[in-house]
Amino acid sequence: MKIFNLDKKNKSYRFVILFIFFLFLFENQHVNAMASISIIPKNAVFQGEPVLIQISGVKLSDIKKITFDNKSLKFFIYKNIPSALLGIDLNKKIGDYKIKLDYKNGSSSEQFLTVKERNKYQVAMEVPENLGGNSSENQTKVINTLSIENNVLSVIKTFAKPLWSKKFIYPILNHTVTDEYGYSRQTGVYTLAHKGVDLKADVGTKVVAMNKGIVRIAKTFQVYGKTIVIDHGEGVMTFYMHLSKIKVNVGELVQQGQLIGISGDTGYVIGPHLHLTVRINNISIDPIKFLELFK
Ligand SMILES: [Zn+2]
Repeated sequence: MKIFNLDKKNKSYRFVILFIFFLFLFENQHVNAMASISIIPKNAVFQGEPVLIQISGVKLSDIKKITFDNKSLKFFIYKNIPSALLGIDLNKKIGDYKIKLDYKNGSSSEQFLTVKERNKYQVAMEVPENLGGNSSENQTKVINTLSIENNVLSVIKTFAKPLWSKKFIYPILNHTVTDEYGYSRQTGVYTLAHKGVDLKADVGTKVVAMNKGIVRIAKTFQVYGKTIVIDHGEGVMTFYMHLSKIKVNVGELVQQGQLIGISGDTGYVIGPHLHLTVRINNISIDPIKFLELFK
């Protein structure tokens, strides 16, 4: 009788172990079956465009890592969905790139994103009279100054977590794009890519913060004019240039929609406008496409 009992006990142990094993299997399949990667925009982008990757059906804690072209992306929660932002450089090689998601349970899923070639047409641009006029000497001077200013703007620190939770908004109320992102400006022998958009703005137009963030730059540059840079955390930054007035200070936490400055025509400009740049991990992408990502 004793032996019989033991045997029965063993069998039930086996059953419990088997049950746990199936439960584990089911749980794993459950994570994968429910998870779906959505890429915005779908499947393909042009060079210089931003991408929003969203993973539905999983918790942030289920995700081990996400990579684009074998490089890790940072995750954040946007509207309760684990999300990642990706900036495609204006000069990124065209082709198909892998977006791979690794789960903590050891499984993974992947999708491909095609980077298409952008039409980078060229337009001549003269050095305006307020910067000395269009001599080759002045062209070189402007290019050298620009490179110094770009160096200052490429080493801005970013907060380790996103400071925003609402969608990004336009920095001015009535927005018309006068100069789009991504084409090239030819100044003498120099070619400069326009890595932002110019929005129509008479001198005196109110400029507001596109989202919550910390002011990292609030100063006057020779080429960029009066400039504000807001760090929205985790590598997302917005740049407001050629302003006539700056209404914020470095280090200040600003709210979405808060008045930060007044538009103008300071720096290397032909006429008054607001130049807007958006960067994702130091890659300047098309700000209009960036604004379209968020619902
Ligand atoms: Zn511009």
